[in-house]
Amino acid sequence: MRILVTGGAGFIGANLVHQLIRDTDHQLLNIDKLTYAGNLQSIAALSDHPRHEFKQIDLCDVSELEYVVATFRPEAIMHLAAESHVDRSIDEPGDFVATNVVGTYNLLRSVHSYWRTLGEQEQSHFRFLHVSTDEVYGSLTASASPFTESSSYLPNSPYSATKASSDHLVRAWGETYRLPVLVTNCSNNYGPYQFPEKLIPVVILKALRGESIPVYGKGENVRDWLHVEDHCRGLRVVLEKGIPGETYNIGGDQERTNLDLARSICGLLDEISPRSDGVSHDDAIIFVEDRPGHDFRYAIDASKIRDELGWKSMQAFEQGLRSTITWYLENRKWWQSILDGSYRLDRLGGPSS
Ligand code: NAD
Repeated sequence: MRILVTGGAGFIGANLVHQLIRDTDHQLLNIDKLTYAGNLQSIAALSDHPRHEFKQIDLCDVSELEYVVATFRPEAIMHLAAESHVDRSIDEPGDFVATNVVGTYNLLRSVHSYWRTLGEQEQSHFRFLHVSTDEVYGSLTASASPFTESSSYLPNSPYSATKASSDHLVRAWGETYRLPVLVTNCSNNYGPYQFPEKLIPVVILKALRGESIPVYGKGENVRDWLHVEDHCRGLRVVLEKGIPGETYNIGGDQERTNLDLARSICGLLDEISPRSDGVSHDDAIIFVEDRPGHDFRYAIDASKIRDELGWKSMQAFEQGLRSTITWYLENRKWWQSILDGSYRLDRLGGPSS
């Protein structure tokens, strides 16, 4: 199958294209703007692969988008490109509206005008999979039931509001134009290639560099952690077996407070990479001023994808954390080039494969 992946130089997208190349015969066109969050090093191993092509394309560039869709002739879209960091959305919401809302609209329009030219059978087999977040459902109290696919949309941050908008656009293109769309809403991902501004890599890298480990507020906020490999398998299952027009929640069933999570990482690092002074890494944890509008808790009820499509998360959390820490220890060049900014030099020449 020919699949157009958007955002495939980002964290989840890079893991997805690696998994698709490893486990399937699909032909991939990977398009990505290469913002600060896109990193060609994450997909360097695929640069000469005959089933993977990369093009540097901005979803806001409609004519480029229309051109690649018409020439690649995809049979499916896996749409992951987005501005994704909540803190940045508070400082610069305009980029989030441009990419997450207008970019998704541009993609829907380009794909729809291509899809209309297909025969009936090709049209019905076509899939547009939109990857979204549990943050669109807002915040849970400690005792509330996890989010289901019928939970109300109550986004609180500029990030989640723009993702909610994009979910609604995708739904509308399914209802109004009959484009065969699927939406997934997942919980917090972790694993290799995650940009070092997100909680788990922040804790690992601050600890390894002997810096203070910042935790928002009192560290009581709860997130439901999903290993990125499990998430990517879930996306493939939804693409293959999901019913157009439906939404599927994908979660890891691993709720942790941020403080417990930071302490678990420090405990594993004490074992794998102890400090030279013999003090535990968790000695470096400090509490910093809370994020404005910080959602207290997210948790996903993944029973629909489990019961209807046969997916479940496989990765035990402690094991997943351990392998993630090991990955960061073994891939210092990858994150050091981000910390010193040199990872952006390879994009100055423009598109590369
Ligand atoms: P990321 O920030 O690591 O990667 C996003 C990618 O999109 C980057 O490579 C970036 O260059 C690209 N991009 C940004 N703007 C673009 C534009 N205008 N045109 C083309 N490409 C553009 O994000 P991620 O963590 O990999 O998340 C992928 C998707 O999954 C996003 O849609 C996000 O909302 C969703 N999601 C992520 C998580 C998580 O825990 N990481 C949880 C729920 C949902």
